[in-house]
Amino acid sequence: MSQGAIDTVIESSRQEAACMHCGLPMASSEATSGFCCSGCESAYTLIRAEGLDQYYDLLRRLGGDSKPVDGRLSGESFVDLDAPGFWSQHVIPLLEGRVQTVLRLQGIHCAACVWLLERLPQMVPGVLDARVDLHRSTIEIVWNPAQVALSTAAKQLAKLGYRVVPLGSSSRERLQRKQERQQLIQIAIAGACSGNVMLIALALYAGEWTGMAAEHLQLLRYANTAIGLVSLLGPGSIFFRGAYHALRWRTPHMDLPIALGLGVGAASGLWNTLSGSGELYFDSLSMLVFLLLVGRALQSRQQQAACEAVDVLRQLTPGTVQRVSHGRVESIALESVQVGDLLEVEAEQTIPVDGVVVEGVSEVDTSLLTGESIPLTVRPGDEITAGTLNRSQRLRVETRKVGNATRIGHLAESIQRAALEKAPIMQWSDRISGIFVMVVLTLSVIVGATWYWLDRDVWDDRVVALLIVACPCALGLATPLAIAVGLGRSAKRGVLIKGGDALQRLSRPGLIVLDKTGTVTEGRMSIHEWHGDLASLEWAAAVESKSRHPIAEAVRQYWSKRTHGEPTRAASEVTSYIGHGMSGRIEKNEIDVGNDGFMVSRGCYISEEQRALHDQFLTSGQTPLYVACNRKVHAVASLDDSLRPEARKVLQRLERRGWTFRMLSGDHEQIALRVGKELGLKESQIRGGVTPEGKLQAIQEWKKSGIPIVMVGDGVNDAAALAAADVGIAIRGGAEASLQAADVFLANGSLEGIESIIETAQRTMRVIGRNSVASLLYNIFAVTTAALGWLHP
Ligand code: ADP
Ligand code: MG
Repeated sequence: MSQGAIDTVIESSRQEAACMHCGLPMASSEATSGFCCSGCESAYTLIRAEGLDQYYDLLRRLGGDSKPVDGRLSGESFVDLDAPGFWSQHVIPLLEGRVQTVLRLQGIHCAACVWLLERLPQMVPGVLDARVDLHRSTIEIVWNPAQVALSTAAKQLAKLGYRVVPLGSSSRERLQRKQERQQLIQIAIAGACSGNVMLIALALYAGEWTGMAAEHLQLLRYANTAIGLVSLLGPGSIFFRGAYHALRWRTPHMDLPIALGLGVGAASGLWNTLSGSGELYFDSLSMLVFLLLVGRALQSRQQQAACEAVDVLRQLTPGTVQRVSHGRVESIALESVQVGDLLEVEAEQTIPVDGVVVEGVSEVDTSLLTGESIPLTVRPGDEITAGTLNRSQRLRVETRKVGNATRIGHLAESIQRAALEKAPIMQWSDRISGIFVMVVLTLSVIVGATWYWLDRDVWDDRVVALLIVACPCALGLATPLAIAVGLGRSAKRGVLIKGGDALQRLSRPGLIVLDKTGTVTEGRMSIHEWHGDLASLEWAAAVESKSRHPIAEAVRQYWSKRTHGEPTRAASEVTSYIGHGMSGRIEKNEIDVGNDGFMVSRGCYISEEQRALHDQFLTSGQTPLYVACNRKVHAVASLDDSLRPEARKVLQRLERRGWTFRMLSGDHEQIALRVGKELGLKESQIRGGVTPEGKLQAIQEWKKSGIPIVMVGDGVNDAAALAAADVGIAIRGGAEASLQAADVFLANGSLEGIESIIETAQRTMRVIGRNSVASLLYNIFAVTTAALGWLHP
């Protein structure tokens, strides 16, 4: 729009004393500024700054006005739009790291709004596409999350006066279905075009052989060109749009050479049609569009399947639930459950929502989430969470939270978000394919120039052939896919992996560091002997009630076995000294429970007799435990734990694959040695009496050697070491806590999970490697033949 036209708009609004943005009449006090409010003023400034003045022109032609802008809107931060909750429900991944979503907007009312909103990519770098559905008041946005956050785009929309309002239900599936439908339509059009062009091309070749009249031939050539162009500009336009984005945001990807090839081919085909001589190309070009589109559809279908495979975690909650309404029980889909609904959960069923028990008494197994292995007794008034298992009786539960708002929902989200994050190999392949595109483009210029000089008639043939045969698909597209599939497959087998880099690191053999209690042993300790009175057992049970260590569980269980009840006295000021023991206060008494080192550090007195018992337990291979009250030991106990049945075999098989082992235990040296030898380890590989800090230090030390260090341990007690290792694998402690420090959680609680993830890692990296080599060889071959002119487009 010309400056003159803008001035007229401004002028006319001045005359009527109307707001320059929304056109509403203004109070005389506002008339000097030209705007009715500051919101309108900033929207106007923004639109003009972006050179989008045409908006006002359009508005005027449509006889409408824009809505006044509420200045408060632009103050919102829209952080929700960047949260995993929004992502898992509303965002779908596209190829090449782009993502798509739909937002509902308030304030869209005419074609001028649509025009302005679809210029969003121009205003917010990183937003690649914006499409408005005026009828439904929605905007579909495609963006590159590495470049811009969705909240930034929403803020821009707010500044323009459009308010982003939440879409009620999950839009992800709808979006996916729509995308698939669009893809199919495009493929069908491309297929039809390509079929027709082929037929005409055949007729042309046949005609040339049989001496068809020149004007008929020319007619066929026109028809061929016309249909070919339909295919290129219709379904094929996606490559041109991609190329435009690549140029505009300086992120070279494969659409660039493809579009260039299609463009050069089409241009020389068109030239040849008009000049009446030479090759037409449109048969090859339209076939190419068709095949490329089919390839893309397959790829995005696979990618979505991979994402859904990661969704398996969400299947930890049941698909249908029993809702009680008006005294009747009905079966409904979990998605339709609302906060406040009364649900009935039978025994052995998984709790579907976070809620409060209103009827029934039962035991709930929360081990997946929290790692608590002893079932929890729940009664009316108690809170329970989705994903836990109702063990014994029917319960009625009032819904407090559903879906992503539940604890298990948060967990699913964090895993899914990590899956979207890029593993180093993906970033590497992204970079390589960027370089590759530049190399292909440069080569095509050199080849074009050389042939132009050698033989002016064929230079375009050569360039088109080169641009089209070069294809780094294996790098740019197949790598993320291979990783996503690897993560998905593992999730199905109960191995939850946070992030693709763990897979990459596990593909090369390295050092596996094992914790003892609960990792190579079952972690189901039991008290073998108890030398002390019942009171000291109760103190210990009360203090240990706050710990999830296998020893704590053993003490609690022993108390309930002896008394058939829970401790009646509660401990306060409970402190956990990870790897040492627990302390707390019961009434006026200070209680310490732990190993000998812990007793010494707390200054507790141990009698000769007690020390003798302690040493006797050690020699018989049992873990000793002291209970002290007011700095004097009152009881000595011994605990037993058995090796996981699969442990020895798993270690042997991994050893054959080239992995080496070390065991670090916080337990007594003697016990550690016994267990380690049972596992088949040598004395030099075993260290006992290592504090959590010691474990961390050892890991850091070994990391310096450069080989991958994998720590397998307990999600709670070994958190620091798990986090420090190249890959942390948690086998106990519940998914929720474990995945904060570890990269992997073995939900099925078997060491075989380590083997399975290593296998998956190797397979994934093998697939990636094979693809890369194959694609490299293919490209060298294809580019050479095309450059030398042996390959016809
Ligand atoms: P490991 O490295 O073998 O898994 P931990 O580091 O978990 O062993 O624990 C080391 C030692 O610390 C245990 O053998 C025990 O003596 C003591 N300990 C740890 N936690 C507790 C607890 N909750 N109650 C009593 N003792 C504990
Ligand atoms: Mg442990």
